[in-house]
Parts: sequence; C-alpha cells; structure tokens
Amino acid sequence: MKNRQWLLARRPVGAIKDSDFDFVETEAPAPGEGQVLVRNLMLSCDPTQRGWIAFDTYLPAVRIGEVVRSGGAGRIEASNHPDFKVGDIVTGLTGWQDYVAMNPKGQLSKLPAGVALELAMSALGLTGMTAYFGLLDVGRPAAGETVVVSGAAGATGSVAGQIAKIKSCRAIGIAGGPGKCRWLIDEAGFDAAIDYKSENVSARLKDLCPKGIDIFYDNVGGDILDAALARLAMRGRVVLCGGIANYNATEPAPGPKNYLNLVVQRGRMEGFLVLDYLPRAAEAVGALAGWVQSGQIKTKVDVQHGLDNAPATLRRLFEGRNEGKQLLRIAE
Ligand code: NAP
Repeated sequence: MKNRQWLLARRPVGAIKDSDFDFVETEAPAPGEGQVLVRNLMLSCDPTQRGWIAFDTYLPAVRIGEVVRSGGAGRIEASNHPDFKVGDIVTGLTGWQDYVAMNPKGQLSKLPAGVALELAMSALGLTGMTAYFGLLDVGRPAAGETVVVSGAAGATGSVAGQIAKIKSCRAIGIAGGPGKCRWLIDEAGFDAAIDYKSENVSARLKDLCPKGIDIFYDNVGGDILDAALARLAMRGRVVLCGGIANYNATEPAPGPKNYLNLVVQRGRMEGFLVLDYLPRAAEAVGALAGWVQSGQIKTKVDVQHGLDNAPATLRRLFEGRNEGKQLLRIAE
C-alpha cells in the first residue's frame, strides 16, 4: 500500500507556499506492538497549524522533514490494540498522510455511533468545544449582555456567537464580506454583523454597542482587537481565542494600542487553550449536540478534496475563502 505524505521542507515566511512542503510517496507502515494502522479519511484544517510549522508553541514545532501535524479522522485498517478494532472510526492528530501507525491510547478517540464525521470534526469536536469553553468559562456571559465576536462566520466564531444567543445575550459578528455577514444574521441568528472589509469597524461598534461591549470574543487580533478594546463596557471581558490577522506576520505584531482601556473599565483580557478543557469534553459535546439537534446552533462545513490539496486548503483560512469549518476529504 502506498502512503502519500506531506513533509515540512522549510519554515514558512509569510503566507504558506506549496514549496514549504515536500509531497512524497512511501510504503504504508506496519503497526507495531500495541499500535493501530489508521487510514486517514478527512483532515481538519486549523489556523494553529501555521504556528506548529513555524516555532514552538504549546506543542513543539514540527521538525524539518517530519510529516505535517494535523487533526484528522480515519478508519482502523489493522489493530494490535485490544480496545480498537478494524473498522473503528477514530479522530486524533493523524497528520497530512494517507496512513499512520500509532499507539491509540490517549491519542485517538472513537467516533460516537451515529455522528457524522463532518459534525464530529466541527461543532461537536474541538472547534465547538473551543467556542463553548471560551465563551462560557472565560467570557462568563450574563443574560442581556452584548457579545461581539471577530472571525464570526468561521468555525469557532459562528458557534461562539450562537451560544451567546442561547444565553440570552445580544450577539454582534465581525466578518469579511457581505455574504458571510448575511449568513450571520439570516441563518445563525446574530443580531447584527459588521463587514470589516468594507465598513469602519470602530464607527459601527459605536452605533451597535451604545453601552459598550461586555464580552469581546477575539479570533483575529490586530486592528479589530484595538477597535473592540476602545469600546469595552465597565467590567468588560476580552476572550483571547486567537489572532489570525498576525499568524503570517514576518515581524512581531505591535501590541494592542487601546489596552489601557482595560484599566479605565476595570476589564479583563484572558487567553485560553481548548486542550486544557479536554477532561470536560463530555459536558461541552453533550450541550452542543443538544443545541445542534434542536436547531439552536447552525453549522457550516467547507469540504475540499484530495491530499494533494493540503497546503492550498490550509491557505484558504488565511484568505478568508473558507465557508465555515475547513475540512479536507482525502478518502471515502
Ligand atoms: P475559521 O474562523 O473557520 O477560519 C479563519 C477565518 O479567519 C477566515 O475564514 C477569515 O474570515 C478570518 N481571517 C483570516 N485572515 C484574517 C485577517 N487578516 N483579518 C481578519 N480575519 C481574518 O478558523 P477557526 O479554526 O475557527 O479558528 C478561528 C480562530 O480560533 C483562530 O484564531 C484560531 O487560532 C483560534 N482557535 C483557538 C483555539 C484555542 O484553543 N484557543 C482553538 C481553535 C481555534 P473572514 O472571511 O471573516 O476574514
């Protein structure tokens, strides 16, 4: 069995290029003692992969010559582990490759019966959990508060805004382009949307949040974070989920200009990592599954095809071309 793999060829500078990677073909590995052989079916494309291939973050950087790290879902093709059997569908860090042999203990989770792969890798996976814990644990919304979400039409942002609505808050989304803004209001039930590509974000936030922003759920950073900081309400919270506006920066990003408004407004700005919440995964997935089933959370997935398209598909996130959670189907 042939195994196609994308290896990291060099550390990217600026936007990722195909030439940052080598596409190679080897033999599929045989699973060793206690290991399973996984046939990757679907890859998750995540902005954090830009950091993983560039430098040490909360995980060590992928080394030059190593398979590119990626979330994925696959089918067990051979098993030397008593808890995993051939045919099980599993999710984990399976990498940009057709096949991977790995020890499944603590590394692979079985897909719950009856859950579609697309859903398990979006609203009911790490993406949904990020929105759930970021908004509820870090943001701590109260009914009637105003929640502003950047990257609002994306995988995480769209779920965060919809949870804000479920918690009886006003939800305002910031996204790129009229189509995404229309989806936020017409489908996802946001109260308002700001198109940062064609509108003045500061002026629109002033209009839409006359009493200020109680929670700013930030996926973007940069100028949008500055605009939100300037409009923070008394005791406002800034939930730092990510800062994609600067992930391709070639120079260190300047600090937020308006951070001293946190002093004036007695505000709190706090980062978090969804990985710290894995012990509480069942709580989040249970709640999210109920909201998806009842239609209170609308999900959108953007499925591209072909392992050969892995770098191009990851790039879509940074070009704003993804419509919802970006996935890459590599086998049926
Ligand atoms: P996503 O939002 O589905 O896709 C990324 C979106 O970012 C794009 O669709 C684009 O939307 C927007 N974007 C790209 N470049 C931008 C720029 N220069 N300025 C403004 N917006 C830009 O991706 P996701 O997987 O849900 O991730 C969203 C954020 O959450 C990222 O910052 C990610 O690192 C973070 N995250 C954090 C955790 C955690 O544990 N803290 C976990 C998962 C994800 P537009 O078309 O609207 O520009």
